[in-house]
Amino acid sequence: MSASPVVRFAPSPTGLLHVGNIRTALFNWLFQHKAGGTFLLRLDDTDRARSREEFAEAIRADLRWLGLTWSREERQSDRIARYEAVMAELVAAGRLYPCFETEAELERRRKLQLARGVPPVYDRAALNLSEAEREALRRDGRTPHWRFKLDVAPSGQSTSGGGGWDDLIRGPQAVSLASLSDPVLVRADGSFLYTFTSVVDDVDFGVTHVIRGEDHVTNTAVQMDIFRALGAHPPAFAHHSLLVGADGSALSKRFGSLSVRAFREAGLEPMAVLSYVGTIGTSDPVTAHDSLRTLAAGFDLSKISRAPVRFDVAELEALNAKLMHHTDFETVRERLLAAGIGQGEAFWLAVRGNLSRFADVVGWWQVVAGECAPVREDPEFLAAAREALPEEPWTVDTWREWTERLKASSGRKGKALFHPLRLALTGREAGPEMRLLLPLMGRERVARRLAD
Ligand code: GLU
Repeated sequence: MSASPVVRFAPSPTGLLHVGNIRTALFNWLFQHKAGGTFLLRLDDTDRARSREEFAEAIRADLRWLGLTWSREERQSDRIARYEAVMAELVAAGRLYPCFETEAELERRRKLQLARGVPPVYDRAALNLSEAEREALRRDGRTPHWRFKLDVAPSGQSTSGGGGWDDLIRGPQAVSLASLSDPVLVRADGSFLYTFTSVVDDVDFGVTHVIRGEDHVTNTAVQMDIFRALGAHPPAFAHHSLLVGADGSALSKRFGSLSVRAFREAGLEPMAVLSYVGTIGTSDPVTAHDSLRTLAAGFDLSKISRAPVRFDVAELEALNAKLMHHTDFETVRERLLAAGIGQGEAFWLAVRGNLSRFADVVGWWQVVAGECAPVREDPEFLAAAREALPEEPWTVDTWREWTERLKASSGRKGKALFHPLRLALTGREAGPEMRLLLPLMGRERVARRLAD
C-alpha cells in the first residue's frame, strides 16, 4: 500500500447502531489505525422519511463511547447539489438515461423473460426511445427515473474488464456485468439511490478501501462501474460475513435489541464489546483486549473468516468479566471515585476478580464500607468468633491469625469453620478472599456483623 488508507463508516441514521454495525465500524477503524490512515463518518441520510437527527446523535454518542474516533464527518443530505452535478455529467456522457416504464410494465416484462427461460435483465428499451417519444411521454405526465448504463456492449461483452474484483476478505470475485440490469440511480421523484451517492462520496473523499458487510457484495460490480464512469479508480473492497445468533438464526430479527446502547445500559465495558466483536470470526482467539491499540496491533483483514459468525451474548458477558478481572487500578481510579469509592487500590484488587460488570463494585463496597445483611447461621459459634477477634491494626494476615485461634478453640475446620464467618460478614455465599476483605472492613464492623 503506497498512500495511507482512507476508510469510511457509513451508517444510515434510521436506527441505533447494533453489533453488526459495530463490527463494520471496528474493522474500518482498526484497518486505518494500523496503517496510520483516516477514518470518516458518513451519514447516509438521503432517505429523508426514515432518517432522524436523534439517530445521527445516537450514532455519534455510541461511537464515542466505543472510542472509535473519526476525523471528518459528512452527511449525504448536505451534498444533494453535488449529486445533481454528477448526475448531469453522467447524462451528458450518455451513461445515465431516462426510463419511463412503470413498475407494472417492468414486472410484466420480467415474467415474460422468465417464461422464455432468459434471465430477467432490464432490456434497455428506454435507450431506443427517440427524443420525440420522450417528449410525448413527458407531456403525458410521465416523469422518468434514471438508469446507469453499465459498461456492457449489446453483445454482452464488457469493454472495461467486467465486474470482478479481488476482495480483501473473500478473495477473487467474478461477476459478469451482462447478467445485471442497468441499475436505477435516480428515482422518478428526483431522489438518489445509495448505490450512486456512495460512489460519488467515495470518489470525492478519496476513499481507498471500502470495508463493509457481505450484504453489499451484490452492489460492488455496479459501483465499480460507476467509479470508472466518473473517471476514478475503484477502491479496494473487503466484505465481511454477517453475524448470526448463537443458534445460527439471523441476528437482525431475533436480536433486535443488541444495540450498542443496550450494551452500554447493561453496564458492559466498551473494550469488552470491541474485543468480542473484533475477534469472533477471526483466526485469532477470542480474548479481552484492554485497548484498541492492542486490538489493532493484531488486526489483519486476512484473518477474518468468510463463514457466518455466531454472536453469543453469554460469551460477550464472560469476556466482560474477564476484562474486569485483569483491569488495573489506574484504569478505574476515576470511575471508583465517581462511584463514591475512595478506599482505592486494595479494595479494587480484592474485589475485581469477582466482578462480572464494573457496577458490581458498589455491592462489594457496601460489604466493606457500608451495610450488608449478615446471614447468621450459628449464633453461638459467631459469638465465640467475636470474642476471638484480634485487636487492630488489621492486615492481610489477620484472617489467618483469627481463624487459627478459632480452629483451636472450636475444633472446627474447613468449610464448617470458614463458611459461617463469610456468610455473617458479607451476607453472601461466595466472594473475594476473606483475608483481603477483613482489613478493609475493620474490627468494629466485623464485630457488629458477628453479633448485635
Ligand atoms: N449506508 C450503507 C449501509 O449502512 C453503507 C454501505 C457501504 O458501506 O457502502 O449499509
